Amino acid sequence: SKPIVAIVGRPNVGKSTLFNQIGKKRISIVDDMPGVTRDRIYLDAVWLGKPFVMIDTGGIEFSGDDKILSSMRDQAKLAMDEADVIVFVVDGRTGLTTSDEEVGKMLRTTKKPVILAVNKIDSPKQDNDIYEFYNLGLGDPIPIAAANALNLGDLLDAVVAAF
Ligand code: GDP
Ligand code: MG
Repeated sequence: SKPIVAIVGRPNVGKSTLFNQIGKKRISIVDDMPGVTRDRIYLDAVWLGKPFVMIDTGGIEFSGDDKILSSMRDQAKLAMDEADVIVFVVDGRTGLTTSDEEVGKMLRTTKKPVILAVNKIDSPKQDNDIYEFYNLGLGDPIPIAAANALNLGDLLDAVVAAF
């Protein structure tokens, strides 16, 4: 069966934007609960002739601020259980946050490949903003701007190379 790629990261880093840029068609939407948007969405995608399935684990986002970290832990666990490759999206405008560090710590415990994408690098002027993310200990951060589909080719090259 097709490799599964999970996209994890804090709310508002641009996971859904990235997901929609990469995915071609929505496969299914699972579940709905009060206080939780549990729309775990699966999308079919293909890059360089290699098909894969993407999961937007960011559908699991709780409404209260105090719940963000626990929902991120759930996302990361789901990704580590179900995915073949994990794309960890962080926000190059906000910079590295405590929640990023917490999730990064979890992701460092998996043997699965983790690809670190720094989103919202909208122009080369922001290129230096990616360096602090080396502190996550997850390898080279890949700058992207999901909203304008900038550098998604490099990100997807790294994803399919990890299958
Ligand atoms: P999610 O909560 O992680 O799924 O994030 P969303 O995809 O919903 O995006 C959150 C916000 O970030 C939205 O207002 C997007 O328009 C914005 N956003 C997404 N990608 C980019 C980007 O490449 N550059 C900038 N400047 N904003 C972006
Ligand atoms: Mg989202």
